[in-house]
Amino acid sequence: MTAQKILFASSEAFPLIKTGGLADVSGSLPAALKSLRRDVRLMLPAYRSVLQQLGGARPLTTLELPGTLAPVRILESQLPGTSVRLWLVDAAEHFDRDGNPYLGPDHQDWPDNAGRFALFCRAIATLALDQAGLNWRPDLVHCNDWQTGLVPALLAGHEHRPATVFTIHNLAYQGLFPADTFATLQLPPALWTMHGIEFYNQLSFIKGGIAFSDVVNTVSPQYALEICTPEFGYGLDPLLQSLGDRLSGILNGVDYAQWNPARDPLIPQPYNAYNFEQKKFNKLALQRRMRLPVSDTMPVIGFIGRLVEQKGIDLILAALPALLKEDVQFVMLGSGHGLLEQGLTHAMEHHPDRIAVQIGYDEELAHLIEAGADMFLMPSRFEPCGLNQIYSLRYGTLPIVRHTGGLANTVTDTGEATLASNTATGFVFHSTRPQALADTCLRAVELYRTQPKVWRKVAFNAMHQDFSWRRSARLYLTLYQQAERQLKNRP
Ligand code: ADP
Repeated sequence: MTAQKILFASSEAFPLIKTGGLADVSGSLPAALKSLRRDVRLMLPAYRSVLQQLGGARPLTTLELPGTLAPVRILESQLPGTSVRLWLVDAAEHFDRDGNPYLGPDHQDWPDNAGRFALFCRAIATLALDQAGLNWRPDLVHCNDWQTGLVPALLAGHEHRPATVFTIHNLAYQGLFPADTFATLQLPPALWTMHGIEFYNQLSFIKGGIAFSDVVNTVSPQYALEICTPEFGYGLDPLLQSLGDRLSGILNGVDYAQWNPARDPLIPQPYNAYNFEQKKFNKLALQRRMRLPVSDTMPVIGFIGRLVEQKGIDLILAALPALLKEDVQFVMLGSGHGLLEQGLTHAMEHHPDRIAVQIGYDEELAHLIEAGADMFLMPSRFEPCGLNQIYSLRYGTLPIVRHTGGLANTVTDTGEATLASNTATGFVFHSTRPQALADTCLRAVELYRTQPKVWRKVAFNAMHQDFSWRRSARLYLTLYQQAERQLKNRP
């Protein structure tokens, strides 16, 4: 039997290009599928920085596509650190530019994003139909987020098409464009209906993925439920609801080769669940690095993430006065909206011995925070999966999270019953009121200070949780089977 062929399409993949969790998934899942003996090709745009990192790539074929005058080259390389074959869509006018995949130097969306990602989608669809002379016809195309949302729509009408899976990593990003963009993209006119990619007189890329794929999933079971409600559905909730059992949730795995305190080259003191007391040397290093008073008994609460409303930064700011009544230190790393960056920076200036903030992206500091903090704060308003709370579990840095999306599926609150059953792994609160966040942090700090043995026990439980890709990849294989059945049995 020949191996199942999977074309995996994404607009970012770690370690080549990353703006968020999507890159972590696209950098790990294809390799995990490969180790389950699937034949996987990963497709990415050939961004300038990607080509620079690879130091070139081998030309495979050339495509003539609407939306660009120049021929589009497909280049082949390998995703660094894996044996996954990488296919890059090389269209200089669209992707050969400096900076972020989605934002220009002015921090605004690139004005031609619709055209850029429509071209990416067309290239994917062409390869998916084996129309590029490569003699490789996938059984299934796995698309991710709005940047690949037109692929299932473009494939839908074809008699001999592969099965399609669309994964929603964050429904807040939909690829919405003014209605007149539709004509400029030269898409099949039949797609412009309320059952197609028109969405209240706008062009919606993500709707192409949701409406035309054989199956749709999101990155946690809880978020799959939430996006079917008006509160989290952005008006797409009726469509999502109508999918029934064609919509599901699969938790992201994490790469424990990179996030393992026993073998993390980016932290000064490795440790594990059995020599947990060694963890404190990382705290001392973190305090020194962030210029906070150095003390191994001081509880340290960490935060890493994009500084956007989704992540509940405003809740943290509002809860700070109550939190600072206790002796605790905060270490925060992130970048994002100017006002939130300023809010955190001001808080640090007012409490330099209690709050340390670094604005920016810093992989090394992220590891040191995971290893050095005692608790990790994630008060997200919504969170499709979330990765940092999962890293925190493995580092015994007890997560304090809001009960939403993937946070609800990965962290178990500490209470009498969960302590008795050895299932407690962190601290969970429900409300979006700042007081709820403050109360829960204080509950955690109290446990840390007064019951070190219980704390160690919870950390022990946390460090033994397994959210590896192997488990999630197997669930994706089951989802792929469902998509293939769906395609076969379609009316
Ligand atoms: P999202 O995809 O919404 O940004 P996730 O928790 O799913 O959130 O993934 C975020 C990823 O990006 C994690 O791997 C996290 O460690 C990383 N990250 C986010 N901000 C920073 C930062 N400022 N420095 C280093 N890593 C960061």
